[in-house]
Amino acid sequence: MNEVILLKNGEIVLKGLNRRKFEDMLIKTTRRRLSALGEWRLTAAQSTIIAKPSDEGTDLDAAVSICRKIFGFAGLSRALTLPKDFEAILSATGSYLSDELSSVSTFKVCAKRSDKKFPLTSPEICSILGNRLLEEHPHLSVDVHNPDIVVNIEIRDDAAFVHGTQLKGAGGMPTGSSGKAAVLISGGIDSPVAAWMMAKRGLQLTAVHFASPPYTGERAEMKVRSLLEKISLYSGPISFFTVPFTEIQEQIKDNCPEELSTVIMRRFMMKISAVIAADNDCGALITGESVGQVASQTLHALACTDAAVSMPVFRPLIGMDKDEVVAAARRIGTFDISVLPYEDCCTVFTPKHPRTRPKLKYVESAESALDTDKLVNDAADGAQRSVIDGLRM
Ligand code: ATP
Ligand code: MG
Repeated sequence: MNEVILLKNGEIVLKGLNRRKFEDMLIKTTRRRLSALGEWRLTAAQSTIIAKPSDEGTDLDAAVSICRKIFGFAGLSRALTLPKDFEAILSATGSYLSDELSSVSTFKVCAKRSDKKFPLTSPEICSILGNRLLEEHPHLSVDVHNPDIVVNIEIRDDAAFVHGTQLKGAGGMPTGSSGKAAVLISGGIDSPVAAWMMAKRGLQLTAVHFASPPYTGERAEMKVRSLLEKISLYSGPISFFTVPFTEIQEQIKDNCPEELSTVIMRRFMMKISAVIAADNDCGALITGESVGQVASQTLHALACTDAAVSMPVFRPLIGMDKDEVVAAARRIGTFDISVLPYEDCCTVFTPKHPRTRPKLKYVESAESALDTDKLVNDAADGAQRSVIDGLRM
């Protein structure tokens, strides 16, 4: 059987003259992700990328689930390739979709004919094929408004394709098409969702995690790695930096007013991340902050955090409620990992009464008790790098 996966381009169809460049990126990403399953021939035609395995025995279900996580595709379908011959289409469709047709009660046929030289019009294809399917599967009836399955016939330039209801793709923009950014990732619920949301907009991710051994354990870091593995199924491989943060936290605790320690710690995280980001060609930072969620995320605290760096800071969750973030975390598969118990460096050093309306000038003056530049550079230099790729684990 001559089967392929049809991958329908999403937003990039709006890209005018740059479209070709975005298409090439999508092809490159798709080829890399599918390479775990063998060799593929990928061609771009009419807002679609057609992925054809070199080997007939390739696991197409596994390929479909990989492709559903590639940003840039609006929809996808496993499809049968046929010659552009209506008799061939009529005789093959019912048996190709037989499993799906047997398990539903209503259907409709949808025909798209981009090759206008094909002898039948789309309505003719729908009506003749619809009748044929009713004969072959007498339990079925037609429902044009809300069918259980849509039988799709696409008559394209090179061939005809038959497939069932199109699956939804991951949407968004191709990985790397918007540049690179560094996400500050904790083991919590929010930052993995923030990372995923920005990766969806085409940013290639670098991740930075602050660890404070012995206050935080190996388990906390393993948890962050598992979260990044999940995200990398969508974003592609992630460069991961673990930053030693113990000394900075101890110095803040010993030398700064307790009620400002959280905001000062957050500013250190931003500064260190900005150094790592700049070294790794990243043009922005990403955090999982949301207005009002905790004391360090009041308007005043966010302003102080923002002022620590000149790089743009993306906070995609800024206007989201916790339950919206939780729903997103469940969808992308990070929630169950995020709720595992662990110690984060923030929770270990949390002050009893953090200042909710910190003023930048007092924060800066409190920080002057520390050798900030040295602490920032030492921490960035001490960061351990590894690469996380969930598809290769
Ligand atoms: P999350 O669920 O992402 O942990 P949170 O609601 O617990 O977020 P905070 O602890 O205030 O919020 O952290 C705010 C943001 O700071 C996080 O979303 C994350 O981007 C960053 N952050 C916090 N802790 C760490 C850490 N240990 N390493 C790297 N980034 C961190
Ligand atoms: Mg946290």
